[in-house]
Amino acid sequence: MSKKVIIIGSGIAGISSSLKLKSYGINSIIVDKGNSIGGRISTREVKYASSSSFFFHGAQFFTAKTPEFKKIINIGVNKKYIKEFGSFNPKRYRGEKTMRDFLLNLSKELHIQQKVKIIEIKPDNNKIYVVDNKIKKRVSYDGVISTLPAPQNYELLNQFPSLLKTLNTGLYHACIALMFTFDEIPLGLNTYYDFYKKPGILSWMASGSNLNVWTAHTNEEFSDLNYHKDKNFLKEKIMSSIKQFFFNSKIKFHSLHVWRYAKVAKKCLGPQIDPKYPVAIAGDFLEGPNVESAFISGNKAANLIFDRLK
Ligand SMILES: Cc1cc2nc3c(=O)[nH]c(=O)nc-3n(C[C@H](O)[C@H](O)[C@H](O)COP(=O)(O)OP(=O)(O)OC[C@H]3O[C@@H](n4cnc5c(N)ncnc54)[C@H](O)[C@@H]3O)c2cc1C
Repeated sequence: MSKKVIIIGSGIAGISSSLKLKSYGINSIIVDKGNSIGGRISTREVKYASSSSFFFHGAQFFTAKTPEFKKIINIGVNKKYIKEFGSFNPKRYRGEKTMRDFLLNLSKELHIQQKVKIIEIKPDNNKIYVVDNKIKKRVSYDGVISTLPAPQNYELLNQFPSLLKTLNTGLYHACIALMFTFDEIPLGLNTYYDFYKKPGILSWMASGSNLNVWTAHTNEEFSDLNYHKDKNFLKEKIMSSIKQFFFNSKIKFHSLHVWRYAKVAKKCLGPQIDPKYPVAIAGDFLEGPNVESAFISGNKAANLIFDRLK
């Protein structure tokens, strides 16, 4: 089917939308404002003399409970760009060697443009006009799937009242991530530390591509109360929590990333596609607070757009 569809966001929801459309013979274009693919499945590179290490400061792992996502994971495991992480039931997975590699491999045959921010989406007769921050001209499309976190999608889709109703019903927790390395790697480290429901301000701390690159995440309570505070204050708070675990080691590099919309606290309810125009929404906010749910929502949005364009 020769239809022109744009997908906004190169996170897992955008990628799954595009893959599903491709399976129906529709080649879409994905655009994303970020420097690299993945959205909240994020990887940051640090270079030492001749080699690179990678922090995973967004999603730490993903599960595969649904048949659709299990299929994707099994392909990745067989092709060695996904590996099992830890020893959990149900199983958890990571990209090999980075979280970004998972998405780079998954999207190999898709058309993606980074560093393009969509600033306007407008209906006009049966077409949808989209404006980005680069060409700043109205470009017409037969269909649009927008996968921004719900509050950002709410601002962008202000011409589509029924989608606004859906987008207005959800909530997110924030999360503050501190990336750090050691002067010397302490002996006897695990690959992760889970602080779920434990006293303190951390929820999770895990190594990235090796045992010298770590990310600590603050828990929901601390994050929601403090995400807007001064970055030095936040760094100090997290550093003093980390020191309890690595009290003999010196922390060398550190960098803070604040995620305002990190994990879905309450899902959005309502239509996922506009009743009149071929504009659909996708993202974790429709299905649940994790990578797999975002993937499923992307599939659903692609099905809705395909049905509308048939
Ligand atoms: C700190 C943290 C830890 C997490 N841990 C886990 C975990 O361990 N396991 C798990 O399963 N899930 C975890 N999650 C949740 C998981 O990362 C998300 O549910 C999932 O990645 C969401 O994918 P998405 O495609 O819906 O959205 P996103 O990944 O947010 O993608 C949206 C994309 O839209 C782009 N965008 C925004 N505005 C525009 C615009 N105007 N124009 C163009 N592009 C735009 C953004 O750059 C972004 O790339 C975590 C999330 C965070 C933040």
